[in-house]
Amino acid sequence: MRCLLVSDVHGNLAAFDAVLRDAGQFDVIWCLGDMVGYGPDPNECVARLREYPHVCLAGNHDWAVLGKLDIHTFNSDARAANQWTQSVVTAAVQAYLQSLMPQRVEQGYTLVHGSPRQPIWEYILDPLTAELNFPLITTRVCLVGHTHVPVCFYMPEDNDDHLCEPRSPRYDQPISLTSGRWIINPGSVGQPRDGNPRAAYAILDPEAATLEHRRADYPIEVTQQKMREAKLPRRLIERLAIGH
Ligand code: ZN
Repeated sequence: MRCLLVSDVHGNLAAFDAVLRDAGQFDVIWCLGDMVGYGPDPNECVARLREYPHVCLAGNHDWAVLGKLDIHTFNSDARAANQWTQSVVTAAVQAYLQSLMPQRVEQGYTLVHGSPRQPIWEYILDPLTAELNFPLITTRVCLVGHTHVPVCFYMPEDNDDHLCEPRSPRYDQPISLTSGRWIINPGSVGQPRDGNPRAAYAILDPEAATLEHRRADYPIEVTQQKMREAKLPRRLIERLAIGH
């Protein structure tokens, strides 16, 4: 089975469509949350996802749009974008987002937006945070989003000191997940923050246990123009061009 793994689409339809084209044939989409927030096309992105067989998690921005968490914990730009998103999402999209959970197990893989310790909030950005989360993971591989940075944290088997090593993604080369334990982030489709503005995603074969990180070009200026028309915060518009 070929699974398209995406996260943090954040209402960026041009980026999402580029990923759907770039991915080639796939059987299912696994989305790790934050379909909305920041970008100009929240309704269109949810509609596009729902055209495909898929599994989707809730992220912190999805919950914020629903009023399920305090929007004042967001910085002022994220808050402004979230308020704008609240003003445009349809009742159908709200109902869809309401149906999502922030964590689930799918075909022997743990899927969570933030971390197993704090599914909505925690950012796994460093090996220490990954090490603190490994004991809570009941499967061998855990797929996370939320940081917008593609990365793997690998913990070898027979590792008595429970240390893990961070590994930068090797693009377009499948890695084998058949040994050791893993926390893997595919990166963000709609708002990359690793200094690379191209849309990030991954292709996973859950049965063969192989994963390939990938990047796709998309017309950034199309999204930026829509954001200007929606009067979304300037900093959010500019950051798409630098991937940060
Ligand atoms: Zn996000």
